[in-house]
Amino acid sequence: MSLLEIHVLGSPVLRSETRLVTEITDDLRRLVEDMFETMRAAQGIGLAAPQVGRLERVAIVDVDNDPIVLINPEIIVESGSERAEEGCLSIPDIYGDVDRAARVTVRATNLEGEVFEREGSDLLGRAFQHEIDHLHGKLFIDYLSFLKRRGVMARWEDLKEKYPGQRRVLTVGAPVTAEPAGGDESR
Ligand code: ZN
Repeated sequence: MSLLEIHVLGSPVLRSETRLVTEITDDLRRLVEDMFETMRAAQGIGLAAPQVGRLERVAIVDVDNDPIVLINPEIIVESGSERAEEGCLSIPDIYGDVDRAARVTVRATNLEGEVFEREGSDLLGRAFQHEIDHLHGKLFIDYLSFLKRRGVMARWEDLKEKYPGQRRVLTVGAPVTAEPAGGDESR
C-alpha cells in the first residue's frame, strides 16, 4: 500500500468525467487499497478516484468504521432535502453549507464484481452524494451562491500557495482534532 497525493482545487483532473469500470483488475484493487490508506491519513470519510489523479469511476466512503467501495455508483432513489456543512479533502480549510437529498439509495458494484444497493442518510447519504459528484467533475463549492463562492475563491488564492503543483502531500500520524462535517473532509 502507498499514500497517494491528493489533487487540490485547480487541478484539471477534478473537473474531468470518469470512465466506467468494465473489469475488476489487480490494478483497481491496488488503487482502492491506496485510496483507503490515503483517506485515513487525511482523516477523511470519503475519497473519489479523480482526487488522486485517476479517472476510473470508483469512490470509497467510510463513515463510522463501515468501509464501502463504490464502483460505477449511481443514485437510484433520493428523497427529502437537508442543508449541512461540507468540506473536501481537495479543498482543504474551506467549508460551506450545501443542500442535498436527505436520503439516497446508491446502486454500485463492489470489488467482488457484485452489484449492491445501499441506503444512506445523514453523514453517509451526504458522503455518497459528494463522492458521486466527484466522479462527474463536480465539487461542493459549485452549489454555493455566487457571493459565497466568490468569497471561497478569494480565500483559496491564499491557501493554494501551500500546494505546489496542485498536490497535497500527506504525512502519516499528523494529529488532527476531528469533529465531523459532511462531504469527505472531517474536521
Ligand atoms: Zn470532496
